Amino acid sequence: MKEVKSPKKPLLFYYFAVLLAIFMFNMIIAPLMSGSQSTEVDYGTFMDMIEEKNIGVVQVEDTQILFTNKDETQTYKTVPMEDPTLTERLHDAGAQFGRVIEESISPFWTLCLTTILPILIFIGIGQYMSKKLMNQMGGKNAMSFGMGKSNAKVYVPSTQGISFSDVAGEDEAKESLQEIVDYLHNPEKYTEAGASMLKGILLVGPPGTGKTMLAKAVAGEANVPFFSISGSEFVEMFVGMGASKVRDLFSQAKEKAPCIVFIDEIDAIGKKRNSGSGYGGNDEREQTLNQLLTEMDGFGGNTGVIILAATNRPESLDPALTRPGRFDRRVPVELPDLKGREEILKVHAQKIKMSDDVDLHTIARMAAGASGAELAIIINEAALRAVRNGRVIVNQSDLEESIEVVIAGYQKKNAVLSDKEKRIVAYHEIGHALVAAKQSNSAPVQKITIIPRTSGALGYTMQVETGDKYLMTKEEIEDKIATYTGGRAAEEVVFGQITTGASNDIEQATKLARAMITRYGMSDQFDMVAMETVHNQYLGGDASLICSEETQKEIDRKVVELVRKQHEKARRILEDNRAKLDELAGFLYEKETITGDEFMEILNGGDRQ
Ligand code: ADP
Ligand code: ZN
Repeated sequence: MKEVKSPKKPLLFYYFAVLLAIFMFNMIIAPLMSGSQSTEVDYGTFMDMIEEKNIGVVQVEDTQILFTNKDETQTYKTVPMEDPTLTERLHDAGAQFGRVIEESISPFWTLCLTTILPILIFIGIGQYMSKKLMNQMGGKNAMSFGMGKSNAKVYVPSTQGISFSDVAGEDEAKESLQEIVDYLHNPEKYTEAGASMLKGILLVGPPGTGKTMLAKAVAGEANVPFFSISGSEFVEMFVGMGASKVRDLFSQAKEKAPCIVFIDEIDAIGKKRNSGSGYGGNDEREQTLNQLLTEMDGFGGNTGVIILAATNRPESLDPALTRPGRFDRRVPVELPDLKGREEILKVHAQKIKMSDDVDLHTIARMAAGASGAELAIIINEAALRAVRNGRVIVNQSDLEESIEVVIAGYQKKNAVLSDKEKRIVAYHEIGHALVAAKQSNSAPVQKITIIPRTSGALGYTMQVETGDKYLMTKEEIEDKIATYTGGRAAEEVVFGQITTGASNDIEQATKLARAMITRYGMSDQFDMVAMETVHNQYLGGDASLICSEETQKEIDRKVVELVRKQHEKARRILEDNRAKLDELAGFLYEKETITGDEFMEILNGGDRQ
C-alpha cells in the first residue's frame, strides 16, 4: 500500500513572501515606472523653444506648464513664472493650446505591475512547487491545497497492501473486523438483507499494540482506500479549522467510498465535555467533536464509509461518541501474551537474517509485558547491534542484549511486572478461578490472563454465565463473594503475605455483601427491611442509607461477618486443592493467558506436566 501524504504547505510562508515582494516592488521599481515620462526643463529652455518656434501643444496650469516640441515627439514640463506676454508669444510661435497627454503610466497599470503581477507570480511559484512535491511523492490522489483541507493521509490500495496476516496475534480483534472486510467485499449482500453496516468501530488498547496496523489491514484486505488522521491534528491548527477539516475529510471519504477512515487518538477530540465549565478554551475541540458527530449521523449505514478510531483511554470518551449509530462497537486490542509475542517476533524477524541458535520463544518469554511496537524495536535493535559488531547475521545474544536496552526504557513507563510479581498475580488469578470452579453455584471460567490490562488490572479472570440471568439466589451471591476473596486467599495460602492487588476484589465483595443485607433482605437479622434506597439505577446507582445510626453499625458488623465467612471458605478450598493450585498457577505463569477449557482440563485431569 502506498502512502501518500498531501504535503503540509507552509501557507504562512507563501503569504509572507508575497507581502514582502509587493513591498519591495513598491519601494524600488514602482517609483521608476509610475513617475511622469515628461522631461523637466527650466523656464529658460521653454523661452528658447518659443523663440525657435519649436512648440507643438501647450497646456498652461497654475503649478506647471506642459508642452511638446513641434513634432510632438517629446513632452516637457516646467514651472510657470510671472510672464504676462506668454500666451501672446506662444500664439505667435504657432503653438496649439490644448491638453498635453502626459506619458505617465496609468494608475491601472501601476496597480497591475505593483500588486497583482507579483501575487500572480508567487501563486504560480507556490503551485508549481507543491505540484512538484506531490509528483515526487507519487500522488495521483494528492489534494489541492487550501486552509480548511484535512491533512489526512491517503493510502491508495495497491497489491502490496497490509493484510491480517501481517498482524500477528490479536485473533479476537481480527475476527471482529473480518465482518467489515466481508461487508466491503460485497455490500449488496447486506443491502439485500436490509442490514446496515456499522459506521464506527473503536479499537481500544495500549499504544503500540497494532491498532493502526489492524485498521490498515482492514483496508488492505478489502482493497479500499484508507484515510488516516490523528485526533490531535484536528485541534492543533488555527481556531475554527478542526470542524472544517472534519467536513473536508468526510467529503473526500464519501467521494472515495467504499473506504476506511481511521482516526488515531480520538480521545484528543472526543474527551468528555464538562458541561458546567466556564472556560472557553475547549470550544475548538467541542466544535470539532460536534462536526464529527454530525458527519457520522449524516451518512446512512450503507454509504461504504467505515470509521475506525483508536484510543487507549476509552473511559474518557464523550458518551455521545459511543451512542448507537456512532462508535457502537468496541474491539479490544490488548498487549500480546507469550504466544502473541512470539508470533510478532517471528513476523518482524522475517526481515532480518538470524543465526540458527536464535530461540524466539525464549526472547518472547523474556519480553513479558512488551507491546508489538516494542518487540519490533527489539528486533531492530538486535540487528543494529549485529552490524555494530561487524556481522550481518543476528544471534541470540544480540536479541537478549537488545531486550535489556529496550526493556530498561519501557519498564519505567509501563510498570512491567517483575518475575516475583508475575508469580503472585498468577496465583491470585488462579485463586479466583479455582474457588469459582469448586463451588457449585459459580459461573464457568472463560479465560484467565496475567497480561496487564488497559484498565490497570494486572490480571483478570473472566467468568461467563451460561445463560441470561436475572435472578441470583443467596447462595450464588455468597459464592460470588467467595470467588472475589479467592485471589487474596491464594496469596495468603501460598506466600503467607498479602498485597494491594486485591483492592478491586475487596470493593466488589463489600458491595455485594452490603447489598445482601440492605437491599435484598438476605440477612436473618433485618428480614425484608430496606435499609438503602438506590437513585439513578441506570447510571450505576448511588445508594443512600435510610436507617438509624445503631442499625448502620449493626449493618457494618454484619457485612464484615459475611465477607469473613466467605473468605475463610475460599481459603479452605484452596488449601484442600493446593496441588492443583500450584499446577494451574505454574501453567498460567508460563502461558500468561489460558482458556477456560485448558483450565478445566488441568483441574479435572490427572497428573499433567
Ligand atoms: P498502535 O496504533 O496500536 O499504537 P501501531 O499499529 O502503530 O500501534 O503499531 C506500531 C508498530 O508496532 C507497527 O508498525 C508494527 O511494526 C508493530 N506491531 C504492533 N503490533 C503488532 C502485531 N500484532 N504484529 C506485528 N507487528 C506489530
Ligand atoms: Zn483479584
